[in-house]
Amino acid sequence: MTDIQRNLSVNKSRLWNMHLEMAKIGPGVAGGNNRQALTDDDRMGRDLFKTWCEAADMTVSIDTMGNMFARRAGTNQTLPPVLAGSHLDTQPTGGRFDGVFGVLAALEAVQTMNDLGIKTERPIEIVNWTNEEGSRFGPPMMGSAVFAGALSEAEAKATKDQDGFTMGEALKEIDYVGKEPTQSRPVHAFIECHIEQGPFLEREDKAIGVVTGVQAMRWYKARVLGEARHAGTTPPSSRKDALTAAAKLVLKIDAIMQHRGDAGRCTVGIFQAFPGSPNVCPDRVEFTVDMRNPTSEELNKMDREFRRAAEDLYIDTGCGVEIEEIWFSEPVHFDQTCIDAIRRGANEHGHPWRDIMSGAGHDAVNMARIAPSAMIFIPCKDGISHNEAEYSSPEAIAAGADVLLSTLLDLAGPTT
Ligand SMILES: [Zn+2]
Repeated sequence: MTDIQRNLSVNKSRLWNMHLEMAKIGPGVAGGNNRQALTDDDRMGRDLFKTWCEAADMTVSIDTMGNMFARRAGTNQTLPPVLAGSHLDTQPTGGRFDGVFGVLAALEAVQTMNDLGIKTERPIEIVNWTNEEGSRFGPPMMGSAVFAGALSEAEAKATKDQDGFTMGEALKEIDYVGKEPTQSRPVHAFIECHIEQGPFLEREDKAIGVVTGVQAMRWYKARVLGEARHAGTTPPSSRKDALTAAAKLVLKIDAIMQHRGDAGRCTVGIFQAFPGSPNVCPDRVEFTVDMRNPTSEELNKMDREFRRAAEDLYIDTGCGVEIEEIWFSEPVHFDQTCIDAIRRGANEHGHPWRDIMSGAGHDAVNMARIAPSAMIFIPCKDGISHNEAEYSSPEAIAAGADVLLSTLLDLAGPTT
């Protein structure tokens, strides 16, 4: 590879315009997008993506889960391809960049290679994973999960939306059931570009986040048990109020996060009191806890602190606490070769970068099970995402796509 090829730049306005064109499909109500998986809008977004890929001389194939693969031939067609992409579906009140950027950055990288007549030894495939967001059909990251063998296809297709419609039926309805079996196959590497969805890159003025992994996660259901009593006749000394006890516990859970600085996350997202009458002291409160940390060891410590706080609560208030763990996800560590290629790409372009752990799950988490994988983050305004106000500038997007281009050339081996 010559030096001239090391710091090639993508076409910033073409990349930005593709984002604007895609955002016209399934517009939201406040400038963002509502292009949920397996809706008519999803179909139209897929159709547009397919048209663009074919115009860029790629061959588009679709698997039985509706995952789309646009292939750019390599000079050695027997080698496993380098995959790059993300997802085109959005949340009901989603932004124009979450997922979309990862797919379009890969397309722009290929278009730039075409413009410059660059061939690569390995084929490059751009992927649009089906149903990453999981808002209509759970779980999220569904297409990549089936591809990577983390979820059975039958199970995925049997999941129902609120109207009882199955995912399999919805996929047929938009006519995106492909012929290729959905299964893991040789993949040389997978690179996913994505907006950060958090504040760190913007705050530190870094153009690129080199994502080294995804943090560990535990979900719980907690139940605080007190005694239902008359609100007017029961003095403080006779109360076992499950709600005030639960509120104390929630503050302790928050403290578990606060004293770790930026390294931990604790969120109580659902909180319900029973029996739910204005003049009855609640006898039961149920709430969820989402805890995350970059390392399992530290997450285990957070788990112990939470359980100790629950025991202390009984001594303090007389209300018992039942804790049920409902989900555990190990931390993911991305591949060192891919990480190094991304760092080199950022250096070549002179883009300031930092290593970063992802706080959110992504398709790359599934892909890391079967192939060397890593991610490239770019800043988004105020760290806002899953919100129609989500925004990344044309410059930020182009910087991410430049680094992706370098990384793909590095991994796929340019021959000219
Ligand atoms: Zn996403």
